[in-house]
Amino acid sequence: ATASAGFALLFIAIGIWISWRPDSEADDEFVAAIKRKEFIPYYQPVMDIETGRLRGCEVLMRWRRLDGTMVSPGQFMPYAETTGHIFEMTRLLMRQTVTEVGELYSENPDFKLSINLFAGHFNDRRIIEDIKEIYGKSPIAYQQIVVEVTERLPLQDLELARKLIAEMQALGVRVALDDVGTGHGGMAYLQKLGIDIIKIDKMFIDALGTDDSSTTIVDSMVELADNLGMGIIAEGVERMEQVERLRELGVTAAQGYLFAPPLPGKLYIDLARALSAG
Ligand code: C2E
Ligand code: CA
Ligand code: CA
Ligand code: CA
Repeated sequence: ATASAGFALLFIAIGIWISWRPDSEADDEFVAAIKRKEFIPYYQPVMDIETGRLRGCEVLMRWRRLDGTMVSPGQFMPYAETTGHIFEMTRLLMRQTVTEVGELYSENPDFKLSINLFAGHFNDRRIIEDIKEIYGKSPIAYQQIVVEVTERLPLQDLELARKLIAEMQALGVRVALDDVGTGHGGMAYLQKLGIDIIKIDKMFIDALGTDDSSTTIVDSMVELADNLGMGIIAEGVERMEQVERLRELGVTAAQGYLFAPPLPGKLYIDLARALSAG
């Protein structure tokens, strides 16, 4: 009786596995797209709104399919993350940044390059090796690299995450907490992870100037960042009046469609050269 119950359980388990496993044909296609380097970096400028100078950029992944259509991360990132393909994709993305903007970054040592990581990257030592392997001997210095960790997804092992972040910082890499105020970690992440920079989510920036409570929230984020010795970046800036409010509140770094959308490498380089010549 025990044996047949065991078999029954085994068959149920196999049934569940078959119905839940990722569609392998679709997965083969996805892997082929990775091999063909269809996942490419776009670069969104980050501006210093006090001086009008370029501070650097955030790297945002795009899927450029063979037929030329562009797919945004919302449509493939969840799949890339659950299957673990994101690890290889991120390595390839980082390598492409070296090829594309390495020269620009060696000419402009104060430019920063921000890379998005997902929660799983902070649960695996491999990311340290990747950063060393890719940027260690590249024209882009560790001091120019920022990694962004989003507050939207929970980190599995805070202790390990804290250790990996400390190792990145020992190299000279800085760590930003993304989407602050929208997710899980909140104050606990700020305190425990040793974050260098906080990024104010677009949600709060959107309402700046039209809604007093968001002004109060941004104001307290600035104060918090100041008191903790952290930098601050506003994201999703679309209107000039938001820039004015941000300046009044003491925020000096911002990105958003008002300045520029995420750009292909060549356009980002042209823009950077035009701005630094001006
Ligand atoms: P995020 O890190 O919060 O990136 C900001 C998103 O806001 C980007 O969307 C950007 O294109 C968009 N954005 C920037 N300025 C404006 C603006 O003024 N108005 C509006 N409406 N949107 C603006 P995107 O490129 O579609 O990326 C979406 C999310 O996908 C990112 O959110 C990030 O969480 C994730 N992602 C993108 N690239 C990568 C990557 O290489 N690795 C990982 N792990 N995640 C990535
Ligand atoms: Ca980000
Ligand atoms: Ca963000
Ligand atoms: Ca956001």
